Amino acid sequence: MPRITYEGIGYECNPGQTVLDCLTAQGVAVPSSCRTGVCQSCLMRALGGGVPEVAQAGLKSTLVAQGYFKACSCVPTEDLRVALPDAAGLKLAASVVSIEPLNTDIVAVRLRPERPLDYRAGQFIRLYRDAQQSRCYSLASVPHLEEDILEIHVRQIPGGRVSSWVHEQLHAGDAVEIADSAGQCFYVPGAPDQPLLLLGTGSGLAPLYGILRDALSQGHRGPVRLYHGSASPAGLYRAEQLQALAATHPHFHYVPCISAGPVPSGMRQGNVLEAALADQPDMTSWRVFLCGHPDMVQEARLQVFLAGAASADIHADPFVPSGAPIPRQP
Ligand SMILES: Cc1cc2nc3c(=O)[nH]c(=O)nc-3n(C[C@H](O)[C@H](O)[C@H](O)COP(=O)(O)OP(=O)(O)OC[C@H]3O[C@@H](n4cnc5c(N)ncnc54)[C@H](O)[C@@H]3O)c2cc1C
Repeated sequence: MPRITYEGIGYECNPGQTVLDCLTAQGVAVPSSCRTGVCQSCLMRALGGGVPEVAQAGLKSTLVAQGYFKACSCVPTEDLRVALPDAAGLKLAASVVSIEPLNTDIVAVRLRPERPLDYRAGQFIRLYRDAQQSRCYSLASVPHLEEDILEIHVRQIPGGRVSSWVHEQLHAGDAVEIADSAGQCFYVPGAPDQPLLLLGTGSGLAPLYGILRDALSQGHRGPVRLYHGSASPAGLYRAEQLQALAATHPHFHYVPCISAGPVPSGMRQGNVLEAALADQPDMTSWRVFLCGHPDMVQEARLQVFLAGAASADIHADPFVPSGAPIPRQP
């Protein structure tokens, strides 16, 4: 059995067990959130021993070079000596510039980091409530359009620890900490005539709003179709801005979709995936961006692939929730 050494204490890792499960089962406080390798909240650093490649998949090369790995994805095959990341090296101070309601559930939080962040529109940052609680939020801002401002859209989850803190306790002027950008869901220039499909529900619009404006501002010429879905019209937001972009970019189409109740004119009945596939049954050669609820993202990934999109052209940002249950109230 491989042995994990943390702060001088050795822990036996059971066969098939991840470093995260091994350490937390022994009472070591390792921050974590999605536990599926997406959010990178459980980053640790290997000080001795090698980690499997899969535990470093998707990390920036600078992090890989320093031995960082995702503890939730690391099933060790040899003894490891590990440490929590040098927080000072990964975290960044930021100030809250504004918090603006986008609808009844979602706020736009604009942050000014203490130094410019190197990111691509559609990637996500981690926002810390405190040392143990952080969550990922996707970037709706575009580096060359918004300069030193980062914008995230936070939906309040009833009882949610970080989203409720953002909605109820965070204010303009407050100081927060964030961690560097990550994620593979962003626009890459180089195929300006390729059709683009952007599908999202709820605050899944955040990365799509960034990706869309990034693509248009970089001169993307192919058709761009954005489907934003909600149960009711009240759940949609930034509709005016998207309609304005559609008016000035004839190759861009904004399709708001309502999945329940009455549907106002100009909106589509049904979910985003059904609407998109009804409009484009053949997705061959399309580049696809899927963001929001993990079930929607998983189903859409399969269906657009079956409709002909190449898997390398499907970019997804599932908003996987934190694995930790809400603590019981005393
Ligand atoms: C890569 C990535 C990008 C993300 N981007 C965004 C974003 O741009 N905007 C955004 O609002 N969120 C985004 N999320 C989700 C976000 O990170 C948090 O999971 C979310 O805000 C809930 O955190 P919380 O601390 O409020 O809830 P927690 O305290 O973690 O959870 C409370 C309870 O609610 C459940 N829960 C959590 N999320 C949901 C949900 N969506 N629906 C139903 N139940 C849920 C949990 O399982 C738990 O039981 C993203 C997640 C990932 C992994």
